[in-house]
Amino acid sequence: MDDNKKTEVSADSSSSNKNFIREIIDEDIKNNKNDGRVHTRFPPEPNGYLHIGHAKSICLNFGLAKTYNGKCNLRFDDTNPAKEDVEYVDSIINDIKWLGFDWEDRLFFASDYFEQLYEYAVKLIKDGHAYVDSSSIEEIKEMRGTPTQPGTLSPYRERSVEENLKLFEEMKAGKYKDGEHVLRAKIDMSTPNMKLRDPLLYRIRHEHHHRTGDTWCIYPLYDWAHGQSDSIEGITHSICTLEFENHRPLYDWFLDKLGIHHPQQIEFARLNLSYTIMSKRKLLELVENKFVDGWDDPRMPTISAYRRRGYTASSIRNFSEKVGVAKRDGVIDLALLEHSIREELNKSSNRVMAVLRPLKIVITNYPENKTELLTAVNNPEDESSGSREIPFSRELYIEQHDFQENPHRKFFRLSPGREVRLRYAYIIKCEEVIKDETGNIVELHCTYDPETKSGSAQSQRKVKGTIHWVDADKSIDAEVRLYDRLFNVPAPGSDKDKDFKDFINPDSLEILKNCKLEPGLQNSQSGSRFQFERLGYFCVDSKYSTNENLVFNRIVTLRDSWAKIEKRNKS
Ligand code: ATP
Ligand code: MG
Repeated sequence: MDDNKKTEVSADSSSSNKNFIREIIDEDIKNNKNDGRVHTRFPPEPNGYLHIGHAKSICLNFGLAKTYNGKCNLRFDDTNPAKEDVEYVDSIINDIKWLGFDWEDRLFFASDYFEQLYEYAVKLIKDGHAYVDSSSIEEIKEMRGTPTQPGTLSPYRERSVEENLKLFEEMKAGKYKDGEHVLRAKIDMSTPNMKLRDPLLYRIRHEHHHRTGDTWCIYPLYDWAHGQSDSIEGITHSICTLEFENHRPLYDWFLDKLGIHHPQQIEFARLNLSYTIMSKRKLLELVENKFVDGWDDPRMPTISAYRRRGYTASSIRNFSEKVGVAKRDGVIDLALLEHSIREELNKSSNRVMAVLRPLKIVITNYPENKTELLTAVNNPEDESSGSREIPFSRELYIEQHDFQENPHRKFFRLSPGREVRLRYAYIIKCEEVIKDETGNIVELHCTYDPETKSGSAQSQRKVKGTIHWVDADKSIDAEVRLYDRLFNVPAPGSDKDKDFKDFINPDSLEILKNCKLEPGLQNSQSGSRFQFERLGYFCVDSKYSTNENLVFNRIVTLRDSWAKIEKRNKS
């Protein structure tokens, strides 16, 4: 939670970063529309945890408010009591704060407007623009027609204003069962825009709401609640994703008929990421069926999962800015998100040595019972981070994969009779491979060359490979969790005939139990981040790690495929 104190929130900050939304706002300000005010909102439905797509929308809305000295509200669109939960409300509040944004005293709930929305509906009825339909939902669906065929008029469409008012009041008073009646707008049953074919405004739902309790048994539909909620809050620019483009004429119709403040809706393309699912319904399915360990499982694309995995808030904000704002749907390469955190951690995180799959080494010509302290640089990218001392003695661990008994041609690390440099230490030579009865390598006997101590004047001799290591006696144990993509195809949600769960990567999590870390990591705080030399960036897990049983998450590997793509594009 500490990332935000240091880094100034910069989403949408660079004035060079023009986008079409900013052009619209600039024009509005020039024309003194809304007295030059800019007021946006982020309107989540509390039916799941926020994901990286929401982060994009949060950065955009709060970022625009900041850029234009305006305001941004947080409003929960809580009109569907069946799917909503306070757990989601709390997680959303927590995630937006963590991302570094502040709605001040403007936390709202669409349910706060239920009374006002009811009054608006009464006005539509009185003006002859809405009616109570007693057809069933199936009948209404059938009468709606298709985009090329006009719909049919409901037999209840010409009810009198008085009858409509009476029925609607009775609906509210709880006189009817679920599904007996609905309230519909009276617009046009033959227009090609299906959204305008007498859309539903209210349905009866005898259901407990997490905020209004049992006060209401009729609930507004999202389309009826959304635009009016924006209007009530004095929103100037209602920014939403492209799928709402064909809802805009409906929202405009409502606002015009009610004669109330009219925010400008602007649509932009939602963020899609390769190898990632971004539908809350599908994410819930992964959680409920235990494909993952909760909404914050570090393989999930939720903000809470990225946080737990070790992403910083600033890396997510920077990513949001880099992807920009588009008018057409596209897919962003997951490598760009990874690049964003890698770039930051390269500058900010200390290097340490950790051995994930240990192989014991005995340095036979090194004195028993001796330990010397060697100096290691904390971060070559940041001189101010200084150095530390790491113990070195007769028994060490190296990675199993840094040794090959029969080395292939291009293997320059340790093998029988060959030398390698131990980072910050000495050159060692493998003299003997010790195996158990079944032929497994259990340890290596090596010798070291005392003249080759790193940093010393004599240390002129060069060898081709340098590997990391830890002291066997002084090292500490840890569990390390390696994550890979949760899906093994770039677009797991795109094939309508296939279940996205069929594309789950069975190797997306690997848990290594016997890792050895340099002793300085002993009291690492939850959430601390390090670069394990040659292995990647790692973070102390906030859910399972304890002082007795350290657990690290791999945030991201060191290889930066995005930087390569960029370089290739430039040359
Ligand atoms: P989902 O499809 O994942 O359920 P949603 O749109 O139903 O998402 P909401 O809670 O309604 O979820 O979203 C809140 C806000 O976030 C909306 O304004 C929506 O447009 C925006 N949003 C949701 N998904 C994305 C995305 N992938 N990219 C950008 N903005 C998004
Ligand atoms: Mg939505």
